[in-house]
Amino acid sequence: MPLVIATVSILAFAFWRLYLRDRARDEVAARADPVWRKLTTKRPCQWSETGSGRGAFREYHCATCRATAYSRTGKAPETCKRNVRGGL
Ligand SMILES: [Zn+2]
Repeated sequence: MPLVIATVSILAFAFWRLYLRDRARDEVAARADPVWRKLTTKRPCQWSETGSGRGAFREYHCATCRATAYSRTGKAPETCKRNVRGGL
């Protein structure tokens, strides 16, 4: 009989843990969804010149993806540099 009680309590504990974990995951997903959507939605880059630069390169900062890029043409970069490390 103690074995049955132990088994039942272990099962109850396991179900309780699973239930709590699923609920927690749903809450996290619901809370993270706007952030995730914001991260995955493509928005146009909004480059602005920072005023600094290296030599002939002018430094630009993207307000959309917070990337820093350098341009030598005097125009803002056309492609987003968010996936480029170092911003070059
Ligand atoms: Zn960008």
